[in-house]
Amino acid sequence: MADAVVVLATRNPHKVDEIRDAFHVPGVTFTSMDEFPHVPETVEDGDTFEANARKKAREVCAATGLAALADDSGLVVDALGGEPGVRSARFAGEDADDAANRALLVQRIRDVPEEQRTARFVCVLALALPGDLEMVVAGECSGRILTEERGDGGFGYDPLFVADSTQRTFAEMSRREKAALSHRGRALVNAQDAMGRLLREWAGRLA
Ligand code: IMP
Repeated sequence: MADAVVVLATRNPHKVDEIRDAFHVPGVTFTSMDEFPHVPETVEDGDTFEANARKKAREVCAATGLAALADDSGLVVDALGGEPGVRSARFAGEDADDAANRALLVQRIRDVPEEQRTARFVCVLALALPGDLEMVVAGECSGRILTEERGDGGFGYDPLFVADSTQRTFAEMSRREKAALSHRGRALVNAQDAMGRLLREWAGRLA
């Protein structure tokens, strides 16, 4: 019996790897947006991670006719009033890359006393099934921001973020180590129960 297909509604290969590493549902295969080059990017104009995650999942589900799982995530920095938040990917401008976003973050946080450079990563995962059924789970990871990058793994703000209870940045960790602490890892643990069950039942109905 063929597996049911769920599209991972992101063009970020790091997110795809992190989700595939940690979310295993019997009867379900996760495919990436590489299979759907014609599907346009979602305009992420929501005020919350949840609104953007739901919008991405819904649009990819509608465009492909398949179930879609979307991740909206970002870094919430206390001393910057919650910035970059939902604008994490576009902090230094619409076409900014990760290096430009990190450089701006360092510039903005450099003069903040170290003990006030607290932050948290947030990840919201939204699942949309054909027929309007949706489910959302979230995960967070608290830590602090460095003013110098360390490590070359991961993506985004990883070289600048040290989670509470560690001394290393996410960029200095293996994918497995990052997953044990990270916002996405925690969201995926939260996804195992209800979201995993919903997907198993849905896949069972299609089989
Ligand atoms: P999104 O694609 O709109 O969800 O944007 C997510 C942005 O938040 C990424 O481009 C990164 O800048 C940042 N981000 C989210 N998750 C992570 C992570 O696990 N590590 C580092 N940066 C992250």
